[in-house]
Amino acid sequence: MRKFISITLFVLSGLFVASCTDNSGVRPEPIQEEWSIVLHGGAGGKSEMPAEDEEIFKIFLNEALVEGKTILENGGSALDAVQATVIYLEDCPLFNAGKGAVMTSDKRHELDACIMDGSNLMAGAVAGLTDVKNPIKAARLVMEKTPHVLLIGEGASHFAKEQGLEIVPNSYFTTEGRVKEIEKLLSERKQGSPMGTVGCVAIDKNGNIAAATSTGGMAGKKWGRVGDVPIVGASTIAHNGVVGVSSTGHGELWIRQSVAHDIYALMEYKGMTLKEAVHEVLWNKIDKMEGGTGGGVICIDATGDIVMDFTTKIMFRAWAKSSGDTGAAVNRTNPEEKKI
Ligand code: ASP
Repeated sequence: MRKFISITLFVLSGLFVASCTDNSGVRPEPIQEEWSIVLHGGAGGKSEMPAEDEEIFKIFLNEALVEGKTILENGGSALDAVQATVIYLEDCPLFNAGKGAVMTSDKRHELDACIMDGSNLMAGAVAGLTDVKNPIKAARLVMEKTPHVLLIGEGASHFAKEQGLEIVPNSYFTTEGRVKEIEKLLSERKQGSPMGTVGCVAIDKNGNIAAATSTGGMAGKKWGRVGDVPIVGASTIAHNGVVGVSSTGHGELWIRQSVAHDIYALMEYKGMTLKEAVHEVLWNKIDKMEGGTGGGVICIDATGDIVMDFTTKIMFRAWAKSSGDTGAAVNRTNPEEKKI
């Protein structure tokens, strides 16, 4: 049983945080990677994660990474790689997507997901799904089998059924940890901070970039609330030749700042590097906004360079490049990162 041997680890999810890749602040000469992949499993947390717990999470992050990395190494598409990675994370109860998703204020689950293909700028998304086991599969089918970009609620569910996707009772998504979380939030009359959304960005051997994100949203959200994830350009974007982005964070902030699209636009129209564009949007825009708890982004540019950055304490993440740079982390690996 390779997967999820320790569902009890879910208790650890209360410790969520975000981090970023190791960056010295000195930009090395860009290497053209044959392929690259980066994933996140959410950002948040009030403190750094103890090292022993981080090591356990890294096992799952690395397993998810292998799903997509294997596809890229074998010459498969970025689109298939991001989808396979997100499916693993949706099935893993440790994250806030698919099984293990957070609960709404009426103790149910409503799931959002989005996928984008940078080779043709096609995108597909679903919002408010209550019974589709893998929302990212539904998002991909919206992209490929309909003339639409976004399907919601019952219509999305009906479409997923027609397409033969696996349908589950809403209780399938529930874990003990999520029940405890919602009960605590309701007793304190609070909404949860962002935590555990999953996403993946990849560039394949043909230079095609794809991005995918999947979430249960914010714990304690109102029935019918739709976050940033299914809004193309808020959380997720993919443009060949420029960048792919997947995000996690306080969705309302991401929608209001069009975070993913802004990163893309700063690179495309202003000629910023990926690192500069991410820094501008995360630290000069999001971090300055009132009323939110921040979050993070994972991105890949056309050279296969990866940037992972977050304004929170931790971000679950893992990455691999054809040139050999690979790893997984939860805590911030370089405290100076924010100053780049
Ligand atoms: N961005 C997600 C939302 O607001 C939450 C998260 O990333 O944890 O729906």
